[in-house]
Amino acid sequence: MKPEIHPQYYQVPVHCACGETFTTGSTKKELRVDICSKCHPFFTGKQKLVDSAGRIDRFQQRFAKTEAAKTEAAKIEAAKAKK
Ligand SMILES: [Zn+2]
Repeated sequence: MKPEIHPQYYQVPVHCACGETFTTGSTKKELRVDICSKCHPFFTGKQKLVDSAGRIDRFQQRFAKTEAAKTEAAKIEAAKAKK
């Protein structure tokens, strides 16, 4: 290897948000990650929603409103049909 152009390569601990810790090679001295192979849905087989910036909440609120409007419209239609 050419001297003084390569970064130092360390064996470092990786800490996941789920509590898992393992060792890997990196040029950083320590790694902290949000998701790893112990907790990623691909490996667990369970569905896990990663809600960034409350987008799921916002979608569900909007969806609930639409559903409520549909129910209301159906009631009006049913009342009309009775007459
Ligand atoms: Zn994890």
